[in-house]
Amino acid sequence: MSKQVLIIGGGVIGLSTSYYAARKGHRVAVLDRGTIEQENCSYGNAGLVVPSHFVPLAAPGMVVQGLKWMLKPASPFYVKPRLDRDLLGWGFKFWRAANAGHVSRSAPLLRDLNLASRTCFEELAEQTGNAFGFERKGLLCLCKTEHRLEEEARAAAQARQLGLNVEVLTARQATALEPHVRPDIVGAVYYRDDCHLIPARFMAALKQQLVKLGVRILWATELTGWRLNGKSIVAVRTTRGDFAHDEYVLCGGCGSPAVARQLRLILPMQAGKGYSLTLPNPRQLPAIPAILTEARVAVTPMGSSLRFGGTMEIAGLNENINPVRVQGIIQSVPKYYPEFTPQDFEGIRPWCGLRPCSPDGLPYVGRTSRYTNLSIATGHAMMGLSLGPITGKLMAEILSGERPSIDIQLLDPDRYARLSATSRSAGGLT
Ligand SMILES: Cc1cc2nc3c(=O)[nH]c(=O)nc-3n(C[C@H](O)[C@H](O)[C@H](O)COP(=O)(O)OP(=O)(O)OC[C@H]3O[C@@H](n4cnc5c(N)ncnc54)[C@H](O)[C@@H]3O)c2cc1C
Repeated sequence: MSKQVLIIGGGVIGLSTSYYAARKGHRVAVLDRGTIEQENCSYGNAGLVVPSHFVPLAAPGMVVQGLKWMLKPASPFYVKPRLDRDLLGWGFKFWRAANAGHVSRSAPLLRDLNLASRTCFEELAEQTGNAFGFERKGLLCLCKTEHRLEEEARAAAQARQLGLNVEVLTARQATALEPHVRPDIVGAVYYRDDCHLIPARFMAALKQQLVKLGVRILWATELTGWRLNGKSIVAVRTTRGDFAHDEYVLCGGCGSPAVARQLRLILPMQAGKGYSLTLPNPRQLPAIPAILTEARVAVTPMGSSLRFGGTMEIAGLNENINPVRVQGIIQSVPKYYPEFTPQDFEGIRPWCGLRPCSPDGLPYVGRTSRYTNLSIATGHAMMGLSLGPITGKLMAEILSGERPSIDIQLLDPDRYARLSATSRSAGGLT
């Protein structure tokens, strides 16, 4: 049955959900508080499609590593210390999730989601004449130290057990793959299943498809409240009036928790700020995207330009640029690619985006049991682009009353609401 669906948020998750819902025959509208020119987190990111990222952010060792990094101002990860209830609660939940059991439960699901999303990207590339520069060249994880290479090789062994196509390479083998760049490394791990694309072009291609499908996009329209009738949402209140639909899907990225709070829904989330710098005419252009593993910087060729992206700064909901952290990215580049210099980045304006990070490193996708006609699709952290299409496809299945084609119980958006209720009744802390 065709329904009227309102999507809240015009990032990659909202637009992908709109696309697949419209293709299922629903009548879809999207609203976003930004203007058509404004770029949310989905534009300046590193453009990687990552079956290799099967380990969620909340993993063993991350808490200790994070604490060490916090002492270094230019390190890849930083939590701005502050007395904030949401941050403390998030940190506690992160600590609880960062264990081996959680990783082994999540890894097959993240693999399946990323591989299924890759298939969606392939279909979209075919349909749009590859309007967004989709390329299937894999991902090289470059290591400067033996210690790091050993760690990456252990992750590669896990990846192989999950059926991924991955190889540990000596420095010479890695250089043979990238003869024009000559990285200064001890070795690398090559994930052949990964892909890359140009995110802003992907967003433009999605918008074009939406126009063709008759989806209405309402820019500069902020959701400010809800009109309810018991457990049913009757309409949303916005800065441009009320909108009444049959179904509502919250895809507001880092803006989602505030919107959910108005409905008394708990959606623990912190904004993980990251930066990218794009060189329009780089002195060398690698053919294969890379991660500079010790520095946690992603390097992606995008046409004739080259993008460097990194850092995870948990510092609240603001888009202020921290020059020390941007310098951290810039200084790391010549360590891996000796022919680049910090001067190459002079005059390049850093872009910043806020990743919506859940405490267990898994997105929230599905219906909430608290309302009959509300679904949630957010919290994709470092994988929102990669998981965009499959999230949209799964949401469209859910909106159509179908069983999701991938079991996504682990992504239940109510998982923390239930935990809180349980621990409250048991006199717990959360
Ligand atoms: C440096 C960096 C590199 C990255 N690299 C990659 C990568 O290589 N691969 C990958 O998969 N991911 C990557 N990511 C992560 C990815 O960019 C995000 O996960 C993704 O963009 C999140 O998409 P979204 O649609 O959930 O949120 P957003 O893109 O932030 O969109 C949310 C939208 O909701 C709107 N909104 C919020 N509240 C309201 C409201 N009340 N009313 C109306 N509208 C509202 C906002 O205006 C916004 O437009 C990277 C991120 C960064 C910062």
